Formats: sequence, structure tokens, C-alpha cells
Amino acid sequence: MDSSTGEDGATERDHRTGADYARERDEADPLAAFRGRFDVPDAHYMDGNSLGPVSDAAVASLERAVEEWRELAIRGWTDAEPPWFYYGERLGDELAPLVGAREDEVVVGNSTTVNIHTLIGTFLDALERGEVGETDARAVLVNDLDFPTDHYAIRAQLRQRGLDPDEHCHLVESRDGRTIETDDIVAAMDEEDVGIVFMPSVLYRSGQLLDVERITEAAHERGILAGFDLAHSIGAVPHELSAVGVDFAVWCSYKYMNAGPGAIAGLYVNEDHFGLTPALAGWWGHHKETQFELNLEYTPAETAGAWQIGTIPVLSAAPLEGAIEITREAGIEAIREKSLELTSYLISLTDEHLADRGVSVGTPREPERRGGHVALEHADAYRISQALRDRGIVVDFRPPNVIRVCPAPLYTGYRDVREVVDAVAEIVDEAEYEEYERQGDGVT
Ligand SMILES: *Cc1c(COP(=O)(O)O)cnc(C)c1O
Repeated sequence: MDSSTGEDGATERDHRTGADYARERDEADPLAAFRGRFDVPDAHYMDGNSLGPVSDAAVASLERAVEEWRELAIRGWTDAEPPWFYYGERLGDELAPLVGAREDEVVVGNSTTVNIHTLIGTFLDALERGEVGETDARAVLVNDLDFPTDHYAIRAQLRQRGLDPDEHCHLVESRDGRTIETDDIVAAMDEEDVGIVFMPSVLYRSGQLLDVERITEAAHERGILAGFDLAHSIGAVPHELSAVGVDFAVWCSYKYMNAGPGAIAGLYVNEDHFGLTPALAGWWGHHKETQFELNLEYTPAETAGAWQIGTIPVLSAAPLEGAIEITREAGIEAIREKSLELTSYLISLTDEHLADRGVSVGTPREPERRGGHVALEHADAYRISQALRDRGIVVDFRPPNVIRVCPAPLYTGYRDVREVVDAVAEIVDEAEYEEYERQGDGVT
């Protein structure tokens, strides 16, 4: 990076965009060795924000669980290591440092959508009963760029309480169709009926990283609860949920955490809220010591463990154990540092080589406003993304015009980024994408 700079500043730019730069950076990359621990089926896998690839560690912990099943069968609940009975809590302990929480504030269980149902439901009930917050207002503040499942779940929870979702689900609107201004979120909190603000940490399409701390502080100043969906930041961006005082959070484990398709999800509940009654109650969230007394009276655990519902799916939790190990070995700070360097490299190459080919960057340029992926915008984004896949470069398309490129730090490097940009340039120059059907014209 510290190349000599010519009079006009061009040398450094040329250096960064030159072919040698990527090779040099890959050679000096302290996380380079992790690539060998993943099986990546494609030449350049840039879709880890949708589904992370398998690692040796995830396979090892999964195989161990299968072996324990074989050797212990029913005794696995007590004699496996760790005992399956406590697996949700133990994995929560391991995850806690990644989100900056106390061990008993984190548990794994359910899916992200189910966790939104139970936590939104729980806090709507607690607001009504006056157990939390400073008002009994129960509108939920979300934004119009959210991932749809979050809205489906929130609206269903409102409906089940006899609250009209059109009135009680407030939308913060994006000004540019890409990002959400924190000021707009804060201004919307001044509506009197807002009880909960629920925002993503990172927007799934543009990759904007929201200011979790400022949103939480502004909410608390108004007696409003603050919850977050960390699906697109867990494993890519460090968090300080406890220190910031976030009330609750959810996330999935199959994106940057690399725990496998449909892997068990995770959740955080601030210790101030321990003891609330979970909206979706089940015996797996029962107080552990008395769970097997099988009383008909429900006594929820006094930790985040209370928001588990049914029996933990051991085989979709087991790969997460190894996956967490790898992430912690690499270190979330080192992961974030490399991630920012890769996305910044991708943005500068796009400016340099793709801007005049009609491709622009839809992701904020400030590092503190950027998650782990970059949105490249082009009118023919869908067909370009298909052409990239046929060249062994896996990215994904999000309507209407976004190619998401995710250089996940554990198994991609500078050369992968370089390759994506070179390939897009060729695909556009040679009109290669015109050989593909438009989205909707054929099988997608
Ligand atoms: C990926 C993602 C989900 C996924 O929810 P599932 O219940 O695992 O299907 C939810 N919300 C956001 C914001 C996501 O990015």
C-alpha cells in the first residue's frame, strides 16, 4: 500500500489496480492459511453472505455428534461432550464474545424467523403489561429495505394481539433506495406509539452497516426498546450488544458463520429482561434443573435460554461448534480488518475499471457504514450474475439491479476480488450477458 506516489498521485492508484498488487497482498495476508480449511466448490466463491462453505472444523464437530449418537444413543443427552441437554446454552457461551454479550445472554435455537416471532411477541406482551419500557405503546419501527421475513413475522405477531399491522408497523423510508439514514430512524421514534425499534445491523441488499449504538441510545432516551437482526453481520463485524445496552437480537448461522444450510440460529436477550415470559413457550426453554420433572406448570429459565422452544436439533447445531472455533481462532477483529480491506479494494477497482462500463457501487464508501459485502449495480445485473456463475465466480443477484459480491475473509482473497472485476469487464465488453435470458423470461 505504501508505494511511492507520483506527482499526480497516479502511481499509487496504478499500483493498487495492477495485477501484482493482489498477489502481494494475498502473500502477506495473515488469514491466508484459513482458506485451506474450507472446501469451496467454485473457483471464486463470493456468496458467503448467503451460505458459507463447509470447513474441516464444522465437519469434525458434526461427525463427532453422529458418533456420539451411534455410541450413546439416548445417553447422549447427558453423556455427550458437551451433553446435548445443555448444547444450546454451551454454544451460546461460545458465541457470546462474537456479539459482545455475557454468556447467559446468548443461546442458540430455532431459526431466525422463529426467533423474531418469539422475541417481538415477548416484548409486545411485556410492553402491554408494563414490565419493560416506559410506555405501553406497541408500534414496531422497521424500514422499507428490510429482508421480508422480518416484516412477515412482526406483522403476524401484531395481528395475533389484535393490533392492525398497517397501523402498528411503522416504516422508515429510504431516501435513495439503498440506505437508511440514522437521523430518519431517530426522527421516526418521536411518534408517540412506538414501543420497539427493530432494525438490521447490515442491510441485506446494499450492505450498509447501521449505527447500532446510536439507534439504541436514541431509543432508550425515549423509553423505546431496541432489537436488531444481525444476520448479515455475525461473524463479519464485531458487536458490543451488552455494553451498548441492546435489548434483544437474532441472527442466523449459515451466512458468515459457515455452520451449514439451515443451521440452528442464535439470539441474545439483555440480562435486564431475564424472567420475562417467552411468547412462544416450550419445554426446552424451561428452567433446566426442573425441566425433567415434567411439571405442567411452566417455569422459564432465568437466562436467554428461556427463548428456546423445542428439543435442540443436535445435527444442525453440531457444525456450528466447529464453525465458531474457526472464527474465534482467526479472531473477529482480524476478520473485520481484512473484510474492510477487501471491500475497499473491490470498490476502488470498480470505480477504476467498471464505472465507465455502467457498473456502480451501491454500498456506502465509509468503512464504518459498510458490512461484509458490496452491491454492484447495473441495469443487466441479473444476466451478468448468471454469466459470472458460468465462469466459476459465484455471486448473487438481488432485484432490481444488484449483484452482491461478498469477499468473505476466511476463504477469499485479493485475487478473487480482482478476478470478479476483470470478469465483469469482459462480460460487459463482449456483451456476453446477452446470451442469457432476462430474469422472469425463463427458468431462473
Ligand atoms: C438471512 C436472513 C434471515 C433468514 O431467516 P431464516 O429464518 O433463517 O430463513 C432473516 N432475516 C435477515 C435480515 C436475513 O438476512
